[in-house]
Amino acid sequence: MDKSADPLRDFYQYANGGFIRLNPVPAAYARWGQFDILNLKNQEFIHELLQAAAADTAATPGSDAQKIGDFFASGMDEAAVEKAGIRPLKDELARIAALRHASELTDVLAHLQIIGVNAAFGMGQMQDFKDSTRVIGFVQQGGLGLPDRDYYLKDDARYAAIRKTYVAHIERMFVLTGDPAARARRAAVAVMALETRLATASMPVEQQRDPHAIYNMRDLVALAREAPAIDWPRYLATNGVPHVTELNLAMPGFFAGLSHEIIATPMPVWRAYLRWQLVHRFAPCLSAAFVDENFKLAQAVSGTKELLPRWRRVLGAENGALGFAVGHEYVKRRFPPEARVQVLEILHGVRAALREDIVGLAWMSEATRARALDKLALIEERIGYPDVWRDYSRLQIERGSYVSNVMRANAFDNERELAKIGKPVDRSEWGMVPQIINAYYNLSMNNINFPAGILQPPFFDAAAPAAFNYGAIGAVIGHEITHGFDDKGSQFDGHGNLANWWSKEDQEKFQAGVSCVAEQYSGYTVDGDMHLKGKLVTGEAIADLGGLLLAYRAYRASPAYAAAPSIGGYTPDQQFFLSFARFWGESVRPEQARMWAATDPHPPGRYRTNGTLANVPQFAAAFGAAAGSAAGKRCVIW
Ligand SMILES: [Zn+2]
Repeated sequence: MDKSADPLRDFYQYANGGFIRLNPVPAAYARWGQFDILNLKNQEFIHELLQAAAADTAATPGSDAQKIGDFFASGMDEAAVEKAGIRPLKDELARIAALRHASELTDVLAHLQIIGVNAAFGMGQMQDFKDSTRVIGFVQQGGLGLPDRDYYLKDDARYAAIRKTYVAHIERMFVLTGDPAARARRAAVAVMALETRLATASMPVEQQRDPHAIYNMRDLVALAREAPAIDWPRYLATNGVPHVTELNLAMPGFFAGLSHEIIATPMPVWRAYLRWQLVHRFAPCLSAAFVDENFKLAQAVSGTKELLPRWRRVLGAENGALGFAVGHEYVKRRFPPEARVQVLEILHGVRAALREDIVGLAWMSEATRARALDKLALIEERIGYPDVWRDYSRLQIERGSYVSNVMRANAFDNERELAKIGKPVDRSEWGMVPQIINAYYNLSMNNINFPAGILQPPFFDAAAPAAFNYGAIGAVIGHEITHGFDDKGSQFDGHGNLANWWSKEDQEKFQAGVSCVAEQYSGYTVDGDMHLKGKLVTGEAIADLGGLLLAYRAYRASPAYAAAPSIGGYTPDQQFFLSFARFWGESVRPEQARMWAATDPHPPGRYRTNGTLANVPQFAAAFGAAAGSAAGKRCVIW
């Protein structure tokens, strides 16, 4: 803590100042906070698990244990990776080099999609926004090597510097891939120009929060009309889904722009672009020259000073490739069943608090209130890990080429995802692996999900006072439930359908609250002068605000509250708010802070604390503000 700070003026500093002073960002990280510290401990645990699996060379061939061990062993075999150099990409590079005509581009793009390269655009599956019982395919914009269109388009000295670094980086990657210097330079400049045109056609991140904007069902005729340079039936067939006859064209403007580029951009530029995208995607799994060059770009974008140790990088890739197999082993060892019971009790308290809140809302009409309660009642709660584990039996993993393992894992995942199109929705699936320190709300499923990874300190501690748990995991639970009722979630009904259940007047009142939050957060800055995108972060800010209020009410209503003692001179209410503020404590490199401000719907920890608390009068009262003195505008949603 920093007790010299005024809690009512800067509670984030008051609660975390000491932590932040003692925890500068380590060289290999772009941010260092409570999440990262827990993540580090979690990774060390998983590391032991992977090492044990890799040491066990007698695992049954084809079993999850064999795959977990062999993937890790192949990634850790630095000598083999070094010796292989760029050879593992040889076939892919040859396929791109053979490209002669725009009409052949579809095949190559489809193939790159299969192996996990997001060149130009990407395809996936989703529940139909308007009929959540249906699984449809969608295609969305992609193919930019920098984090967001802003990095290409904004007239800003810092972005301009990153653009320069980026072009030089692409050039060096081409040289490493075998190009002569002059050709590499020309190709890098051309790639940057093409990506900049794609960035111009891209939909801004804030706009993507509008579900109507990103929902545009098109049949094959319409697809051919709007993006004629892509051979859609061929793209779908190559991806193993020839029966698909309609797609959600998430960003029509982008696809029109892309289609134009396919015709207008000379083939040598397309070949260079695809080579770049391929090498960029797999550089982290190649020899040291590629890894180091790739890290230079990460450095420019995030400010990180040092590469993570190899095992952490391989572990990250393995969580992607075999995440649920690893997670299955993880929860066997690290998820006590008691945790589930205690967390459920908090969850039910939070849920009851939202119910009570909706019942008592003065501004809401009875018709809308009934629909809101319906939606709340239908929220499905899931804690820990899936009931049905993912089947990896069709994925081949060997103690051979690391890149090939990653590619096959990507292809397996692509096939598994796209195979869902047209089939009934599988409600047993989880969107996050159990070992992750995170949680989510899925608006088409209308469910809240709390992976085992987040159910440990500093989020949940079975032995801690109730104030601690309600302030931490209670607020996280409240956050996820509130997502069902934030700017976006509120547009979906209890069955996960994009259907308006609001009366016009109630909608206007709700929107006024949403605008209040957007305006509040637009006023916040990072690294001195960069403003948050209010519209981008509104949903998360609403979830933070609702989540904290719900957790607070649940804590006050819990049996533990009545008997709660003061601890270290702090009242139970004060303990609750300290617990909430504590888990947002973090140090962030300025480059990373800027990157997140441009792209991330989550505000930084400082504003997740102070921005939220500015709207919570119970907080001001708990820290002794005279009634009504915590003046300033207050946004009210839930
Ligand atoms: Zn959230």
